[in-house]
Amino acid sequence: MMVQYLAIKAEHPNDLVFYRMGDFYELFYDDAKQAAELLDITLTARGKSNGDPIPMCGVPYHAAEGYLARLVKAGVSVAIAEQIGDPATSKGPVERKVVRVVTPGTLSDEALLEERVDNLLLAVAQRGDDYGLAYLDLASGRFRVLEVNGDEALTGELQRLAPAETLYCDSIGHTAITTRSGARPQPEWEFDVDSARRALNAQFQTHDLQGFGCDGLDLAIGAAGCLLQYVKDTQRSNLPHIRSMSHESREASVILDAATRRNLEIDINMAGGDRNTLYSVLDKGITAMGSRLLRRWLHRPLTDIATLERRQDAIAALCGNYHYETVREALKPIGDMERILTRVALRSARPRDLTRLLSSLAALPRLRSELGHCSAPLLASLSHQAGDYPDLVDLLQRAIIDNPPVVIRDGGVIADGYDEELDQLRNISTGAADYLLDIEQREREATGIPSLKVGYNRVHGYYIEIGRAQSDKAPAEYIRRQTLKNAERFITPELKEFEDKALSSKSRALAREKALYDELLEQLNEQLAPLQDTAAAVSQIDVLSCLAERADSLSLCRPQFCQEQVFEVAQGRHLVVEQVLEEPFIANDTLLDESRRMLLITGPNMGGKSTYMRQNAVIALLAHIGSYVPASAARLAPMDRIFTRIGSSDDLASGRSTFMVEMTETANILHNATPRSLVLMDEVGRGTSTFDGLSLAWAAAVELARNVKAFTLFATHYFELTALPELCPTMANVHLDATEHQDHVVFLHHIQEGPANRSFGLQVAKLAGIPATVLRAAGEKLGELEAGRGQPGGGLTGQVAPPASPQVDLFAGATSHPVIDELEELDVDDLSPRQALETLYELKRKL
Ligand code: ADP
Repeated sequence: MMVQYLAIKAEHPNDLVFYRMGDFYELFYDDAKQAAELLDITLTARGKSNGDPIPMCGVPYHAAEGYLARLVKAGVSVAIAEQIGDPATSKGPVERKVVRVVTPGTLSDEALLEERVDNLLLAVAQRGDDYGLAYLDLASGRFRVLEVNGDEALTGELQRLAPAETLYCDSIGHTAITTRSGARPQPEWEFDVDSARRALNAQFQTHDLQGFGCDGLDLAIGAAGCLLQYVKDTQRSNLPHIRSMSHESREASVILDAATRRNLEIDINMAGGDRNTLYSVLDKGITAMGSRLLRRWLHRPLTDIATLERRQDAIAALCGNYHYETVREALKPIGDMERILTRVALRSARPRDLTRLLSSLAALPRLRSELGHCSAPLLASLSHQAGDYPDLVDLLQRAIIDNPPVVIRDGGVIADGYDEELDQLRNISTGAADYLLDIEQREREATGIPSLKVGYNRVHGYYIEIGRAQSDKAPAEYIRRQTLKNAERFITPELKEFEDKALSSKSRALAREKALYDELLEQLNEQLAPLQDTAAAVSQIDVLSCLAERADSLSLCRPQFCQEQVFEVAQGRHLVVEQVLEEPFIANDTLLDESRRMLLITGPNMGGKSTYMRQNAVIALLAHIGSYVPASAARLAPMDRIFTRIGSSDDLASGRSTFMVEMTETANILHNATPRSLVLMDEVGRGTSTFDGLSLAWAAAVELARNVKAFTLFATHYFELTALPELCPTMANVHLDATEHQDHVVFLHHIQEGPANRSFGLQVAKLAGIPATVLRAAGEKLGELEAGRGQPGGGLTGQVAPPASPQVDLFAGATSHPVIDELEELDVDDLSPRQALETLYELKRKL
């Protein structure tokens, strides 16, 4: 057995091998150690190898799914070796074979997948600065290729796709790839373009890949070939549901880099969780596939205005007369068709998959009739694409019982009346009861023993039981089988013959049932392509009606795209912040156009600068997925990219300091932004000394306004920058204000024209609980400094260079200072980390 095991293991050095033994999957050696640790199960030993015990652990066969789920979540792949041979006839160990390899990126079992999250397998090839990417969502069959240039673009795509498993050419050294969970190096020849083309053409049954718009994408095609081979190797079955591949062109989407995806908290918040994100506020999808599609839309805003306007028209039509309500009601019986169809294609669909498919297909006529009330071209075409399947509905209705068991293994899935032969076989086994009663009655009369019974057990089969007292009256033809305390059990030739017939009919019924089930899957597969189109249409209908519901419930408005260069928002709000606030959210206007390309935003900390900037980026993003936006009106020109440089967090993983991260992101913006981009810059220069920081912020602002000409929102605490609009007429000052009320600061969160004229740092510090002694000392110092400093930004001339700042670094060279000492003793336990940092920073800056 160990020889057989080791041979299998040798073929799967990088996978855990689940070796089937009876009712268990066993793991040995290092596999056992790793699994015992990951699954928290007992590690034991079995037999010896070279005198040492062989480590072993096992999981019960019937509970394997739960364990598999935990292993793949930990990024581990599992090869499942099943018994293939018949234990009764085999000499030596039963033949075993790996029937499939479960890997994190190639899941299709319902139990292993997260319902509302795509599970992707990605392959990456590299040539110089270019990367070819191919990704597959096996559970839906969606297969895409794309090519990107440069590391920044690559990390942006990795962030968007968040693949569960990544195959990369082993010559790639980029840590963003090699250190990912589920990263697997592959030899270079797996990425060979010619073999890839052949394999892809064979898969899609095409002559060339032109029809997929993948011309000239050799790097990505190589990656696609590697990916397809990997999936075939792990699934060990045909993949008929992977019908095509398409090219995701970067130009077709509004490009978001990795930092922007993070900063806008699309589906992951800054703390790494999934609450209070754009997706969590918007996702009211009825079907899981709709929710997944919405997530994809949010991560890939589009540039094609015609498409976006069609979506807007659909949302408008769904909002009219609250049609979305009835449409959403009609969507309720629809299950996760996308994933069910994949399991149908892989022949792993379970009985309940088919009943859910049935209820989905049966719901289509009502869905289509509800859509008929909304007049929008997109809805009409989706309704048409959704189709209608009366024949399949009829077939499934006749074939499967209402509440089938979980698995087909024990039968009881196919309905009575569906197949004559099955019915007959079943009648023999169920007719058995009557037949046995007949025998019992007859034998009682023949023997004159009224307590005689006919019974059945698994070991002895059918028997006649006679109480001990009367057992000597048993006729001679009775054959004794079993002696109990109070009874004797017998069989007769007639009973034996009946038993053979009944049992064989039972097993034949089961075999027949399985064959019918396979046939049913076959019939469904014949319509796989249209059914997949139906699933795609239903997903879109779900997302559109979800966005309509959100538009109505959250008071969103339809943004208007226009050709002139403008970004104009009336009464804009931040979709997520307004949900979590207890007090009312203050809506704010924004205007950017040819003559006003950059807003310099000043105001106290906590004044609402970041919120204001982000809300505008979120509005731009939502507009580019075709959604309504949180404002009372919005008009904007199509955008090509959204950039954000917000906040500062050390990128510990790559060992880059806060300042390094800040400058890398800024460099990326200066290189790649265009006049059609939206750029958010928050507190640039903060990560370094005052003079450096101010100079860099100054220069970056000037570059963006004069040369890049992107629409820019630039928040800064360098008051000196508010003088810039005098030099660059396309810049304008706006500010957020605060007011004092009974010695307290009240933030107004209302954006106003012009620069901020006061700083509220000390008041904020007070709110945050800085001790009065420190505040007094700081107040005095502030007075001194302001007296010596003159007007902020004063002395500016026409040159585009930072002004000589009168600010001094108070702490430079100081070994001791009363304020430093007090600050060091400050008890920050009661403050949130953000409050504490903001407070300390502000104090230091003011001083
Ligand atoms: P800043 O970037 O100026 O330090 P933030 O944008 O982080 O300020 O805002 C601080 C807090 O103020 C937010 O967490 C939110 O609670 C509140 N806030 C911001 N903008 C608004 C607004 N427009 N209406 C109501 N509350 C707001």
